[in-house]
Amino acid sequence: MRLHATKEEVAQVRARIEEFGYRVHSIEGEERVVIGAVGVGDVTACLESLEAMPQVEKAVRISAPYKFVSKEFKPDRTEIKAGSAVIGGDEFVVMAGPCSVESERQILESAELAARGGAKILRGGAFKPRTSPYDFQGLEEEGLKLLDKARRATGLAIITEVMSDRDVDLVAEYADILQIGARNMQNFALLKTLGKCGRPVMLKRGMSSTIKELLMSAEYVVAHGNPQVMLCERGIRTFETATRNTCDISAVPVLNELTHLPVILDPSHAAGKRSLVPALARAGVAIGADGLIVEVHPQPEKAISDGAQSLDPRQYAKMMADLKPYIALWKESRVAFAAAV
Ligand code: PEP
Ligand code: MN
Repeated sequence: MRLHATKEEVAQVRARIEEFGYRVHSIEGEERVVIGAVGVGDVTACLESLEAMPQVEKAVRISAPYKFVSKEFKPDRTEIKAGSAVIGGDEFVVMAGPCSVESERQILESAELAARGGAKILRGGAFKPRTSPYDFQGLEEEGLKLLDKARRATGLAIITEVMSDRDVDLVAEYADILQIGARNMQNFALLKTLGKCGRPVMLKRGMSSTIKELLMSAEYVVAHGNPQVMLCERGIRTFETATRNTCDISAVPVLNELTHLPVILDPSHAAGKRSLVPALARAGVAIGADGLIVEVHPQPEKAISDGAQSLDPRQYAKMMADLKPYIALWKESRVAFAAAV
């Protein structure tokens, strides 16, 4: 309340809060009254209504605006199964593959390459979000069929992007994990449909989205019925131009504090440049991500999309070998943490 608000003014505010279904607890100081609202109600509408009352100095939300995805709601980590991999458990999971599915040969070679390096999940876009309408838009259903072929050939699980709520059923027929691209993080119609898709979802952080907005988008999917959601930090847009995006590495521990959902790091889209990918990948392991999603291509110079950030076979093999000691430490700390809990 504003300083020296009258008893009637305080009573009006208490009554308004109660109309929204909250219980009221007030703290009466010498000069100022602080009114606490406890319970479940339409928070946004209540806050807006209170802010419009002249006797109210400030209305602030104390609890997080997301519930199901918060640590308070569920303290233990969410584990998500995809093929032979469990994401969020005590294995560090690597997803690798090209930006786009381009041809049968390209995706089969990529899958073998990914598996040889130790990845458990094959990535590859069949529906591609491209800035230009004149760029390659993906092989669509044909691409999904090729991914299925690669899965049968290698045993890898498949992660692939779905761009529209219309395509959710189709993509869910083929994919083990549905990827939601950065540009669609706040496509609310899509998020609602994902609630009923029956498949795990990986939600990529929008390039101009806050961590809170990412969690709110995850909350949409969970609130609509699908608890199998993982989050992906893929870099955000800043004033920096030396990298394609700015890898917000601190998003990983921030998310680990706030949510029980697994967190994946995408060093490829964060960097935009293949020489930077291994260092960011190491950072992801060291800082406690649950896994990585990395672009690799049998011949990056011939890639239809994102060739500059795709690792070639040799670079990918070296990165995976170099990550081993870091992953061993990651595992030790994961197991120690689980034992302590
Ligand atoms: C991708 O994974 O190829 C992709 C398009 O990523 P993002 O949505 O993060 O840009
Ligand atoms: Mn890409």
